[in-house]
Order: sequence, then structure tokens, then C-alpha cells
Amino acid sequence: MIPLRTLQKLAREQGMPLFVVDHRELRRNYAEFKKHLPRVQAYYAVKANSDPMIVKTLFKAGASFDVASMPEFQIVHQYISDFPAKTRQDYIWDKIIYANPIKAVETLQELDRYKPLVTYDNSEEIRKIRKYAPHAGLLLRLKVPNTGAMVELSSKFGAPPGEAANLIEEAFEAGLTVEGISFHVGSQTTNFENYVQALNLSAGIFKEVWDRGYEQVKILDIGGGFPAPYDQTVKPFRDLARILNGEFERLFPRHIEILAEPGRFLVATAGTLVAKVIGKAVRDGKQCYYINDGVYHTFSGIIFDHCQYHVKAFKKGATQICSVFGPTCDALDTISLAEELPDLELGDLVYSENIGAYSHASSTWFNGFPPAKVLHVNM
Ligand SMILES: *Cc1c(COP(=O)(O)O)cnc(C)c1O
Repeated sequence: MIPLRTLQKLAREQGMPLFVVDHRELRRNYAEFKKHLPRVQAYYAVKANSDPMIVKTLFKAGASFDVASMPEFQIVHQYISDFPAKTRQDYIWDKIIYANPIKAVETLQELDRYKPLVTYDNSEEIRKIRKYAPHAGLLLRLKVPNTGAMVELSSKFGAPPGEAANLIEEAFEAGLTVEGISFHVGSQTTNFENYVQALNLSAGIFKEVWDRGYEQVKILDIGGGFPAPYDQTVKPFRDLARILNGEFERLFPRHIEILAEPGRFLVATAGTLVAKVIGKAVRDGKQCYYINDGVYHTFSGIIFDHCQYHVKAFKKGATQICSVFGPTCDALDTISLAEELPDLELGDLVYSENIGAYSHASSTWFNGFPPAKVLHVNM
């Protein structure tokens, strides 16, 4: 955490809204992930925050990457071309997975020359890949329970477990190569049982396809969902890691390569926003503050990510329950109807912590207000 005095000073110097990215925290989160899950290679999910400087720091720390569009692919690929490769194909797979199960024909055509590793979850996609990206390696994306995740994904993606082995066989019969199985238990998963169920389902499918003679299927991609410590109720990552490591040992022989796609876990705590009070009013007896960042910008996660951020003041003093709104003319631009804040003046600064994931990445230019300025520290 950046000291509050430093944050305030940076914000006054740089202007607000200011989105501060702490690269020491990025490296710390990556190291924690590796320490507790030594058997797993982390593929950072670039969509959580696609800032190229974040990608660079994680690349240097040893991370690989999960991308879901050509622009995200290119952000990562530029580093690969600078790096000494073993064989190019191994290296692409070691460093990038294209983990969007649905890919446009144009995307597949562009991807094919990189011999990428991609996910799929249905027969139509097999036909597309066969025609437009026959050099790709495939991972079958499995539908798994997303119970209790903050962001649910299983209604949009994933093959039903009962169809999985057939879809793998179908891809082989189409002349493609299936490398493994992937899943996503839902973002900010605090119900660790989701992982246990998904791992057990996956182990059953590996057995089934090995029995059918496809013994080369050997990558297990456990996706994202690792919870960021937004508050005290989130159980520590090491507890989840202990459960995962136990299941890995029990269910998967050593030759199975395990990878994961953490997004939020790596970047959430690395981002802090500082904004400024630009207006105040009392409405229906309640103190309302208007600040110069909102849900169309860095607080976009309130809408898209179902994530509630707290707004804190640098100032001390007796607090009351206040409303906090963003700067645009839309009433949807409401950050909170219940924040404990001291009496603030116009020009006072406020901040929100743990706002590094799914925040700045989905900022818009709505109403002409630009996204917050980004400042990288501790690089
Ligand atoms: C969004 C996403 C991730 C990252 O999820 P987090 O919950 O942020 O860890 C990983 N893999 C896929 C396929 C995703 O769609």
C-alpha cells in the first residue's frame, strides 16, 4: 500500500482523477501465487487490466498471459518476439493462451500463423478452427458450477461435462489436436467448493479421453476466479491453494501440466484511485458529494463487475452516512448511497483502494469526461 501522504502528494502534482498502479504490489501478488501454487503456471488474464506496463512487469516476473482478442494478443506478443525462444511454438504456448471460446473467422485467420493455443466449447467452433486456424492447439472449455461467484460465466461458456469427451474426440477426428481441458469457476470465487467440483469433473474427463486412446491430452487449465482480498470476509489465498494442491496430488498424475488464468488476484490490490470533490449538496436530508470520477470511468466495476468500492477521505473527523456520485449527468453514475465520510469541502481529495481490476480497463469517454490519468509507481 502506498503511504497516504505520498498518494495525496502525487495526486496534487499529477492532477485528478489519478489511477495509481503499484508495480511492487503486482510483483508481490505474482510471487504469492507462485509460492502457494508451485505446480501451476500463471497466465495473467489481460482483460482485468490491459495496461502494457502491467503486462511488462508481469512478463519480467515470469508470468504467461491469457488473452481474448487480437489487440490483447498483440500487447503480449511484442514481448515474446524480444525473448529468446526455445522452439517458437512451445514458446507461444508457454507464454500465451487465447482463452476466448468464441472467435471470429477473421481472428482465427490472423491467429493461425502463430500456431496458438486456443479454447473451444462446441462443434461449430471446431468447424471454424479446422477451416481457418488448423495449426492451433485446442483446450476444451468445460462448463462447471459457478455457485456464489461475484461474476458468473457458466451461462455463456462451457461444454456440458456429459458432452466433453465427445467434443474432444470430434476435434481429433476433424484433424485437430486437443491439448487439454479448461474451466472457469466464476470471478471472485469465495466458494472454494467450485474448484473442487471442477477439478473432479476434469479428472473424470481426462480418464474418459485417455481410455478412448487420446493419451496426449495433458494440459489442465484451472482458469481464474482467485479472490482478491477486498475485505475481511474473503478467506486467504493460501487456504484455497492448500485445497487445490491436495486435489492436484490426488487427481492428476505428475505429467499433467497445470496452468491458471488469474486476473483480479494479480491486479486488484495494485490499483488505487484518487479523485476530488467537485460538488456537494444536501438532498432529502442526506449529504451528497460529487467527485470527478464515476461509474462510466474508474468505478465501472460497480456496474460491470458487481464490485462495490469504498470511498475514503484523507481528512479525519466525525463521519456521517453520505451519497457519492460521479461527474456525469446520468443518475446511474452513483458510486455509493452509503459511505461513511467526514465533512468534506470542495477540492478535498478522496481515494478508493483495491480498484486495479476491471476498473480503468472499462472506462468510457461518456459525457466527454476522459478516463483517469494513469501513474505507475515502484517500477
Ligand atoms: C475473465 C477471465 C479470467 C480472469 O478471471 P479472474 O476472475 O479475474 O481471475 C480468466 N480466464 C478467462 C477465460 C476469463 O474469461
